Amino acid sequence: MTNLLEVQGLCARSGDKTIIDSISLNIKPGETAVILGPNGAGKSTIARAIMGLGDLHYSGQIIFDGKDLGKATIDARARKGIFLSFQSPVEIPGLPLNEILRAANEARKKKMRLTDFQLKMAEILEALDLEPFAGTRELNVNFSGGEKKKLEIAQMMMLEPKLAILDEIDSGLDVDAANKLSKVLFDYQKNTNVAYLIVTHNLRILHKLKVDRVYIIKSGKLAAIGNKELLKQVQENGFKNI
Ligand code: ADP
Ligand code: MG
Repeated sequence: MTNLLEVQGLCARSGDKTIIDSISLNIKPGETAVILGPNGAGKSTIARAIMGLGDLHYSGQIIFDGKDLGKATIDARARKGIFLSFQSPVEIPGLPLNEILRAANEARKKKMRLTDFQLKMAEILEALDLEPFAGTRELNVNFSGGEKKKLEIAQMMMLEPKLAILDEIDSGLDVDAANKLSKVLFDYQKNTNVAYLIVTHNLRILHKLKVDRVYIIKSGKLAAIGNKELLKQVQENGFKNI
């Protein structure tokens, strides 16, 4: 099976400062890859670079679905099927989630009848234990931290990307909510074959998922590649000996 995402020698610099250095990773359709690393290691910078966000100087290649993304815009990447959840979701006063999602679907020429949209949205909100009216409220305004993270996942499930990059999607979730989200992510992957690139500190979110590869990032560099065993090692001993 060919790779859905191939990152080769990705570097990001700000002036003289190297933020990430020669990062390479790959993910096939339906796989789950995990990025772990200490605070400030460069994890979110990798996530943003794949989505085409950020104002750093980038070099290296990002190949998605067989094509070099080059200087493709964020919008072009989203249309190709890349989704990035925000580490700190922004409040969008005046705009309900439903309207944003319907506009996004229309922009992608995914015509969906209003009733089908509403039905799908209702199912997703229920699966995430969000209130049925969450889609009609202004996006992220007056939602709790955990609810904002769940709303990011609701957007993923509505937009049906090929690759979902989830950056600290579990921060702010209590133990039960994190367990539940792990199950929702597992079921969604089983149904859609979505590939996940998950940035996390919390192994609970990975509990239900089959983890195909683990990448440890330290000081902007790839320090180790492994499997679920490596996760356990990090949980027990931290990042010191890696
Ligand atoms: P992580 O997600 O692993 O905690 P980040 O990728 O957010 O780390 O950041 C890595 C480092 O790069 C941090 O020291 C951060 O301050 C720095 N950094 C990120 N973006 C920029 C930028 N646009 N300009 C300068 N430094 C940045
Ligand atoms: Mg981060």
